[in-house]
Amino acid sequence: MLEQLRERCLACRACPLAETRTHVVFGSGDPGADIMFVGEAPGKNEDLTGEPFVGRAGQLLDRYLEAVGIPREKVYITNIIKCRPPQNRDPNPGEQEACIGYLREQFRIISPRIVVCLGRIAAQKMIDPNFRMTRQHGEMVKKGGVLFTATYHPAALLRNPAYKADTLQDFKRIAEAAGS
Ligand code: SF4
Repeated sequence: MLEQLRERCLACRACPLAETRTHVVFGSGDPGADIMFVGEAPGKNEDLTGEPFVGRAGQLLDRYLEAVGIPREKVYITNIIKCRPPQNRDPNPGEQEACIGYLREQFRIISPRIVVCLGRIAAQKMIDPNFRMTRQHGEMVKKGGVLFTATYHPAALLRNPAYKADTLQDFKRIAEAAGS
């Protein structure tokens, strides 16, 4: 089912980002994953390869996963938006609305126990429209039997290394929740 959804997504032209993308970045990882990471949108390297979180931000994400003992191949990683917004601008509400159905379907098929939002845009879409990262990162919210949490987007950590210690604590909490 996930493969059919992926094929549909790869052919999607439902919003103007289809005109400027190189590849659709559907998502990757274990379709039976307990933990699903949701970022904002593909960046340059992701657009070029069609894979999520492969650039510098992706390498940083890998380091956090490794630090808390979560194998990347055991999680599923995707984004709110599947095509790169030009110059990495924030995806606008129309683009988010056009694309969110794919994420909803991924969530339904994968059926994770824990959803980790990476960055404000994903957290506002999936946890709370007024989500404030500095105040609410690392909090676990249970909705419909699924734990939702959010931490800083790795790209934000590259710009603001001061958030790295908090992020490590958030990842430790995620690993604990996954092991319980
Ligand atoms: S961003 Fe989403 S809705 Fe827009 S073209 Fe890409 S896959 Fe389709």
